[in-house]
Formats: sequence, structure tokens, C-alpha cells
Amino acid sequence: MYCKICGKDKAVLNILGQQICKECIEEIVETSPWDETYDYYKNMIRIILGYYISEKHLLNPVN
Ligand SMILES: [Zn+2]
Repeated sequence: MYCKICGKDKAVLNILGQQICKECIEEIVETSPWDETYDYYKNMIRIILGYYISEKHLLNPVN
């Protein structure tokens, strides 16, 4: 499976319905607001949450 964040083909975990590798999860967990990578991971989480929310809408269409 391909990691949704780094795009590498690795063993991934399923987080909010998205495949994310252990390394990326550890990066996110260890990233502090004053790290250079903070904005990058913050955006990634926003994108992943976006997928999660849109998939929920597809599964449960409210019409
Ligand atoms: Zn990754």
C-alpha cells in the first residue's frame, strides 16, 4: 500500500480511512509548532480530514 503523505510503498496504517505509514505518523506526532515541517504536516492532516469528511458524505448522502 502507498502512504498518502510520503507516497512511498510501505506498510501502512489506516488513519481516518487513509493509508499512512508509521514513519509519517511518527513525524506528525513528533512535530512541534516551531518546526519547519509543522505547516507541511498540518496541511496534510487537513487534506486527510477532507478526504475523510467527503467519503463520509458519499457513504451517507443527505438529500
Ligand atoms: Zn509515509
